[in-house]
Amino acid sequence: LDADEFRRQGRLVVDFIANYYTRIDEYPVRPAVAPGFLARQLAETAPARPEPGDDALAAALRDVRDLILPRVTHWQSPRHFAHFAATASNVGALGEALAEGLNINPFTWAASPAATELEVVVTDWLGKALHLPEGLLFSGGGGGTLLGTSCEATLCTLVAARDRKLAEIGEERIGDLVVYCSDQTHFSFQKAARIAGIRRGDYREIPTSRESGFTLSPKALRAAVRADEAAGRVPLFLCATVGTTPTAAVDPLRELCAAVSGHGVRVHVDAAYAGAACVCPEFRHAIAGAEAVDSFSTNPHKWLLANMDCCALWVQRPEALTAALGTDHDVILEVPSSERDDGRVVVDYKDWQVALSRRFRALKLWLVLRCHGVEGLRGFVRAHVRMAAAFEAMLRADARFEVSVPRQFALVCFRLRSAAAAAAAVGGKRGRDRDDAEPNELNRRLLEAVNATGRAYMSSAVVGGIYVLRCAIGNSLAEEQHVREAWCVVQEQATVVLAAVGC
Ligand code: PLP
Repeated sequence: LDADEFRRQGRLVVDFIANYYTRIDEYPVRPAVAPGFLARQLAETAPARPEPGDDALAAALRDVRDLILPRVTHWQSPRHFAHFAATASNVGALGEALAEGLNINPFTWAASPAATELEVVVTDWLGKALHLPEGLLFSGGGGGTLLGTSCEATLCTLVAARDRKLAEIGEERIGDLVVYCSDQTHFSFQKAARIAGIRRGDYREIPTSRESGFTLSPKALRAAVRADEAAGRVPLFLCATVGTTPTAAVDPLRELCAAVSGHGVRVHVDAAYAGAACVCPEFRHAIAGAEAVDSFSTNPHKWLLANMDCCALWVQRPEALTAALGTDHDVILEVPSSERDDGRVVVDYKDWQVALSRRFRALKLWLVLRCHGVEGLRGFVRAHVRMAAAFEAMLRADARFEVSVPRQFALVCFRLRSAAAAAAAVGGKRGRDRDDAEPNELNRRLLEAVNATGRAYMSSAVVGGIYVLRCAIGNSLAEEQHVREAWCVVQEQATVVLAAVGC
């Protein structure tokens, strides 16, 4: 790395990013492009030599501006309400740049002592900020690590549970293991289960209902576990969710842990999105009973300003993870894992994850926590929850719409009532040319129409057979004005969609 050239190029890139953010609102949130459009505009092969001209980077940045940016989905646009956000902040981005610039690979303690120790400190800091039970923190005998995604967190904890169980019952019984979740659990758990050797038929997806707010029923879980035991199967693992992807439903942790207590089931909590809310004491109830869980993960890149990617995983028993994922190799272990510092085992994070190499994620999270403070993060989360409550109130004031499930955190799920109900609600009559679009189809059309405007981007989910639109507020740049404008777009497009079916 040439320091002078890096300084000059770094300024170009920082200016480029800053300019993008000043103009981000001018782009349609989601581009209207057909697959394959970009390859047609770029050379078929990479240049053999640096591109001609003084500055290949400046030329490439011009292409980013002209060819790429107009055709990306603008995740940082304040009009992006489609998915749980990937929040960005100055220090989140600069922390990433710092970590990438230093390019350290802290796979063992010895491979970078301060990077490893910062991860130990910062995961305890974050765990305390989220009001996690002491047993999940290093200070309480557990501990945390920073991975890229929740999917990795689920996989690692599942593999740790599997190996402990097989050590008890014998490896030949791997085919008897059964895992549990609800029909609202993120699909990444199914993928993790497959990778961990759980057969498709041994993945129990327990149905939820609208009446119970799409949460996992402890009674149904208990019944499933007992039925499996009675059939000679071995219940292994429960993936509970705090903040499900479709509706942000919160599974009742205390009751679920009680339901499987004594049955040898390890409990993991996927709080990818809503874990962040626990930074506010008023949301701590969402994880009531977490003292009994074995592991817990959340993505600070989703709602805590930490930029992609950052998933924090805490476990009660680090030794279960390291037994399953640990390796001893002389070339890597310059300092053996057993070396002790004040009686504490050195942490080699390669033994807490799938890969050997790893990024220095602790740096950006440390900067975010230092520069925003826990109070700053609380204010950030609360502002989004307030905006979501305002959006919900606007929906409730328009009789054509219904809020399909009670709002959780900053996610609002809503839909148009049936065309007839919507027409009746505004005192109108349906015309003769009416198209009897059933409500799911009507709402599909509404979402398409909203997104086609480029002025708001929302998504959908099908829960209990009902198609709902999801408005997930959580973007770093989102302000009340953007939420009001999004509501205007929804209202306008609803009028158009209803008119098209004769209402
Ligand atoms: N779990 C939940 C509840 C989610 O909402 C998501 C994504 O939104 C995930 C897991 C997947 O997260 P990741 O991409 O970090 O694996």
